[in-house]
Amino acid sequence: MRFRWATRTDVGRLRDHNEDAVWPTGIGDWEEVALVGVADGMGGHAGGEVASAVALETAIAAGGDPAMRIRAANLAVLDAARERPRLAGMGTTLILAEFGPGGEAHFGHVGDSRAYRFRAGDLSQVSTDHSYVAEMIAAGKMTADEAETHPYRSVLTRAVGLDKEVEVDTFTVDLEPGDLILLCSDGLTTMLSDAEVGAILHSGGDPVETVAKLVDAANSAGGVDNITVALVEAAE
Ligand code: CA
Repeated sequence: MRFRWATRTDVGRLRDHNEDAVWPTGIGDWEEVALVGVADGMGGHAGGEVASAVALETAIAAGGDPAMRIRAANLAVLDAARERPRLAGMGTTLILAEFGPGGEAHFGHVGDSRAYRFRAGDLSQVSTDHSYVAEMIAAGKMTADEAETHPYRSVLTRAVGLDKEVEVDTFTVDLEPGDLILLCSDGLTTMLSDAEVGAILHSGGDPVETVAKLVDAANSAGGVDNITVALVEAAE
């Protein structure tokens, strides 16, 4: 199987800084392997930008499977915070997807950045949000509608860079030709419903065009947060 991809990150319409990071920054044109990632940092004094950048750079350079990469990223963010006390408490989400010629995507994931698979017109989220509201929904104590406006909707239950140990979700998604895998920060998914994202993916175009459409739509819907998308298309 081969893959082409594009990524895009945008500050949005309300924020001064972009605390998201994305890898790679260039496009891929029908390669046999791919490694993509999205990180959404948090913390004062530029901590968010540092955390997401350090985490993603470390994860890409570390080697190993996605969980090993994320554990290395976790320690690197902790180290960076130790060296710069003003950044203490910074952290980040991190989601990675590794694509190989066998037609599988291997994921590692911490936080509330998301992965979706789009197949034959259907969009399905394949990651689980590590957030307060997601846990309340899973426990039947909150509806998805309530979560959208809940004051704790951006509170994470897991993040990279906060503790020596980090629990990493890992999962594998089998791919078919024509499948799209979307990684994104919550700046996309808080602005657009899954149905709206699905409609944009359904409208066709190459990944470069599609990531631009996604970012434009999130900005048109308010752009209240940084918006980051990475889109990978699989072919025979
Ligand atoms: Ca965010």
